[in-house]
Amino acid sequence: MPREEADCRAQLKALGAVFDEQQSEYDTAAGCAVPYPVKVSRFEASVDVAPPAELNCSMAKAMAQFVQEVVSQASREEFGADLKSVEQVSAFVCRSRHDASKISEHAYGNALDISGFTLSDGTRIDVEPKPQEKHARFLDKIRKQACGPFTTVLGPGSDPDHDRHFHLDLAPRRNGGTFCQ
Ligand SMILES: [Zn+2]
Repeated sequence: MPREEADCRAQLKALGAVFDEQQSEYDTAAGCAVPYPVKVSRFEASVDVAPPAELNCSMAKAMAQFVQEVVSQASREEFGADLKSVEQVSAFVCRSRHDASKISEHAYGNALDISGFTLSDGTRIDVEPKPQEKHARFLDKIRKQACGPFTTVLGPGSDPDHDRHFHLDLAPRRNGGTFCQ
């Protein structure tokens, strides 16, 4: 395992994330590759990933940091409750993007689709086109602050494919740019 992968795991552990090593994912015909995937079951000690998500380590680490610094904080600010789980509908998956023009970041374990959040008081917040006001404030906060830590941020309103989840990824972009829509 390269040094940067080992370093990433040490950092992920220090963040309190819980994860297992996974076998390399390769499908050269389809163009999919994750040399050193991890399966993350918790982004921090008390926050589940449901179901556990197979990601590359950089994406897992970016998510753990984001959940701790932004999502957990937003749930305390907006609801006065702790974040209990982040629900995801797609992590590593070997497929092309919806428009099929280019391979998806999901094919590199470099993207996560988040469909909702559950809080310690039982509140459930779904990513949806017209959430109730309080949920909307929470979701907007998360979506805005995701732009930067993640280079691509899509969700309801971006296009019909993203009406029920946030797509976050670490696609390399020129000049440190972002695509947030
Ligand atoms: Zn996605």
